[in-house]
Amino acid sequence: MSIVAIVGRPNVGKSTLFNKFVGRRMAIVSDTPGTTRDRVAAQVTIGDKGLILVDTGGLDLGQEDEIHLGVTGQVKTALAEASAILFLVDGRDGLTASDEELADLLRVSDKPVSLIVNKIDNSRREASLQDFYRLGMGDPTPISAYHGKGLDRVTRWIDANLDAPEPEPPSGVMKVAIVGRPNVGKSMLLNALFGQDRVIVSETPGTTRDAIDTVLDYEGESVALIDTAGVRRRGKIGHGIEKYSVLRTMEAIYRADVVLLVVDASELMTAQDMHIWGYAKDAYRGMALVVNKWDLAPELGLGMETVQPHIQERLRAGEYVPVLYTSAKDGQGVSELMPAALNIFRERGKTVATSALNRMLTRAVTASPLPRARGRRLKLFYVTQTGAHPPVFTFFVNDPALVHFSYQRFLENRLRDEFGFEGTPVQLKFQRRSRSE
Ligand code: GDP
Ligand code: GDP
Repeated sequence: MSIVAIVGRPNVGKSTLFNKFVGRRMAIVSDTPGTTRDRVAAQVTIGDKGLILVDTGGLDLGQEDEIHLGVTGQVKTALAEASAILFLVDGRDGLTASDEELADLLRVSDKPVSLIVNKIDNSRREASLQDFYRLGMGDPTPISAYHGKGLDRVTRWIDANLDAPEPEPPSGVMKVAIVGRPNVGKSMLLNALFGQDRVIVSETPGTTRDAIDTVLDYEGESVALIDTAGVRRRGKIGHGIEKYSVLRTMEAIYRADVVLLVVDASELMTAQDMHIWGYAKDAYRGMALVVNKWDLAPELGLGMETVQPHIQERLRAGEYVPVLYTSAKDGQGVSELMPAALNIFRERGKTVATSALNRMLTRAVTASPLPRARGRRLKLFYVTQTGAHPPVFTFFVNDPALVHFSYQRFLENRLRDEFGFEGTPVQLKFQRRSRSE
C-alpha cells in the first residue's frame, strides 16, 4: 500500500485537508493518556488504489531531537518513506521563507510532489497563486480544503502518480506485522519463530537486509509476514543506529490483520510504543503486545504481576490486548506467539448471531439505566453484526447523539464479556431508527 504524505508548515491546512479526504471529522475521543489527538493516518481508496494518507503535522518521528527537526524532519521523513507528497502552502499568507526552505528539500526529490495552494476560497484569492510559481515546482493547484473545493484535481493527481496496486497475499491468510522500536529484538524473534537465515540477527544493529512479504507455513497454517524490511529498513542516523521508520511502521500496520508490537522488558511501554498502539487501534487492527528480553526480568526485578497492570494502565481502553512474554535469546514464550496471533485473527473474523446479540442487549439495558440528555432518554431497539475483520456492530437507536462515549464503552465491554473478541478492536455504529421501523 502506498503512503501519500501531506507536508507543509503549521497552519496551512494540512489536517483540514486530511479530514476532508477521510470524510469526517476524525478527532479521536480517546482516553488513552497522551493520545487525545486528531487522527494522523487513514486508509483511503482513490480509483483502484488503496493508500494511506498521512498528515505529517501530527507525526511522532521517534527521534529525540524531534523538536528541533520540526517541519523539516517531517518533510525528510515523507521524502524517505512516502510514495507521493502533497506540499501544502497557504494562499492567504502568500509565499513565505519557510515554504521556500521546504521547497528546496522537496525539489531535489525523485518522488512525485504536488504543490497545492490552500485557502483559495474564492476567485478573488486566485491572484495570490502567481507568487508560488517562484518555487519552481510547476503549476500550483488551488484548493480550499475548508470548503472542499479543488479536491478532485488532487485526487486525479494522486491517481496518476501512484503505481498500480501491488498484489496482496491471498485472502484468508493471516497477515502479521512484527513492529516496534529499534533494538527491541524483532529480527531475533523472527529468527526464533521461523528459523530462517534470511533474517540476520546481530549484536550490532544495522544488518537486517531488505526483504519483502513472505508467506510462511506455520504448523500447517499459512501466515504472511508483512514488510518486515520496511519496518526495519535501515536509514542511518548518527552512528549506524537503525532509524525508527514511522511511516513504514504505519504501512505495515495498515496491511496487517494482526500486529505484534514488540517492546523491550527493560523499557516497557515508551511514548513511541503508545503511538504505535494508537495507530493500530485507529486502524482497527488486531494486536498483541510482546514483552521481549524477558530473560532479563530477574535482573530487572520484574514480574508479570507488576508488568501486567503497568501495561494495562498504559493501554487504557485496550484491556483486550493480550500480553505475551518472550525471550528471543533463549526461546522462552516464542512458541506462543503464532497461536496467539492466529487466535486474534479468528476472533476478528468471527460473526455472532443477531439473536444472541439482542439477548445480550436486553440484558445490558436491564442491568444499567439508559443515559439521558436534555430530558430525553436513549432507546436501543436492535443490534446486528454488520462486518468482520474487524467486527462491526450496528445499533439502531432513537437518537445517536444520546450515545455518549462512556455508554459506548459499556456496550463494548458487554459485547466482550459475552463474545470475546480478544485482541481485536471492535467498531460500534449507531443508526437512527423510529420505534415503528
Ligand atoms: P495544519 O496546522 O497545517 O494542520 O492546519 P489546520 O488544518 O489546523 O488549519 C489551520 C487553520 O486554517 C484552521 O483555522 C483552519 O480552519 C484554516 N483553514 C484550513 N483550510 C482552510 C481553507 O481552505 N480556507 C480558509 N479560509 N481557512 C482554512
Ligand atoms: P530489532 O532492531 O528490534 O530487530 O532487534 P534485534 O533483533 O536486532 O536485537 C537487538 C539486540 O537485542 C541484539 O543485541 C540482540 O542480541 C538483543 N536481544 C534480542 N532479543 C533478546 C532477548 O530476548 N533477550 C536479550 N537479553 N537480548 C535480546
